[in-house]
Amino acid sequence: ESAALSRIGLAGLAVMGQNLALNIAEKGFPISVYNRTASKVDETVDRARNEGSLPLTGQYNPREFVLSIQRPRSVIILVKAGAPVDQTIAALSDHLEPGDCIIDGGNEWYENTERRISQVADKGLLYLGMGVSGGEDGARYGPSLMPGGSQTAYNNVHDILHQIAAQVEDGPCVTYIGEGGSGNFVKMVHNGIEYGDMQLISEAYDVLKHVGGLSNSELADIFAEWNSGELESFLIEITADIFKVKEDDGEGFLVDKILDKTGMKGTGKWTVQQAAELSIAAPTIAASLDCRYLSGLKEERENAATVLKEAGLSDELGRIGVSGVDKKRLIDDVRQALYASKICSYAQGMNLLRAKSNEKGWNLNLGELARIWKGGCIIRAVFLDRIKKAYQRNPNLASLIVDPEFAREMVQRQAAWRRVVGLAVSAGISTPGMCASLAYFDTYRRARLPANLVQAQRDLFGAHTYERVDRPGAFHTEWTKLA
Ligand code: NAP
Repeated sequence: ESAALSRIGLAGLAVMGQNLALNIAEKGFPISVYNRTASKVDETVDRARNEGSLPLTGQYNPREFVLSIQRPRSVIILVKAGAPVDQTIAALSDHLEPGDCIIDGGNEWYENTERRISQVADKGLLYLGMGVSGGEDGARYGPSLMPGGSQTAYNNVHDILHQIAAQVEDGPCVTYIGEGGSGNFVKMVHNGIEYGDMQLISEAYDVLKHVGGLSNSELADIFAEWNSGELESFLIEITADIFKVKEDDGEGFLVDKILDKTGMKGTGKWTVQQAAELSIAAPTIAASLDCRYLSGLKEERENAATVLKEAGLSDELGRIGVSGVDKKRLIDDVRQALYASKICSYAQGMNLLRAKSNEKGWNLNLGELARIWKGGCIIRAVFLDRIKKAYQRNPNLASLIVDPEFAREMVQRQAAWRRVVGLAVSAGISTPGMCASLAYFDTYRRARLPANLVQAQRDLFGAHTYERVDRPGAFHTEWTKLA
């Protein structure tokens, strides 16, 4: 085909699309770009010129855009998830031809991708649902990419994806995830894990600040120090930076002026819903979602703080707080509690991925997913290499927390973890993520739980029957007659 044609196209030039297009062009792949609103095309063309005369061509209507790409065409879509994706597909597919491929890079619900795969298949088009993580900078300089769907479509662009993805020592942060909506599903769980990480970090901050009495400058130093050890990760690094930022007028720190209400866009909620659907316990991720909901009730919380302080909690809080605590030891304990809690959260996310993989026949490679999260994405962390290795040692690992290495680390950190949670509980500082992780750990590691009693109750009021520990079969007892 003509040399003037672009190798690939990208439609949707908001934050993500613009930066990903520039990344692709910078790696030497001629690209055509298009956006519903023309001004964003001009903006992108200007940036391509200013950022190094990159091989990028602006297009102003869907037909010319599509015809400017070499066949088989690959078109990445980066518009708002949901109906805008359907509308964009409709606008483009009139001009696409059999064998061409659509790649949706948005945070899409995986079932929408599966529906579109079969819709476009009627026209002979191929489809990928590709999770893209790393925000604006990731898109521009190297994201983590999670493409799922047509293997042929992946093969058509795999050289491009390999070059634009973040690079870590064991390769580019991209791999073919699996069929159907698996790429979107994996990105969704990535985001759920991200919710958990952020919640756990915020709890570490809360305990250090309110129990340990640490200042923002001390917090900045502690997080920076943590970032050179086992907790080394993007989220710990940016947290250290956040604590350094002063108010414009030099009066205090910006972090203290930020309203304590967290926003969200839905991927965390989907993760928890999917966990429930698949009967997978994901209490740390669920706790982080609940905390976002509770954070939204600012006025109610202010009221409750007044009403419930009258009950005398405040005095006790004051006494247990700052005064009686060994700061150095608290800091070290919180670091260990954070790490142990994080392992439990990842164990939940990975088990959710495996359950979905089994249900859908996706054949997900959990170790490889941990590898592509080592760079580019928001949860990138040194620790993910350990997860990769755990699944390499044993692909059928029932849970990360029984991998011999993680198990050893958990046991080593148990005492510190319990001290932090205990201290927080007695001080009335809520640590729902750390508590959920600890309860998950303690429930999972117990050979016998009080579930026997629940089962007896179910049999008593509903004749649901029970099994026995000493012989096989289903049993029912007339409990009230015997009591
Ligand atoms: P966005 O704000 O989600 O979407 C804006 C883009 O969608 C614009 O190009 C807009 O075109 C287009 N659009 C909206 N409705 C449309 C319609 N009905 N028809 C055609 N185009 C339509 O953009 P974004 O933040 O760059 O995100 C893109 C996708 O990546 C989303 O799915 C998002 O969840 C995901 N994502 C975002 C981030 C991030 O950090 N922002 C990170 C990872 C993933 P106009 O200019 O014409 O309005």
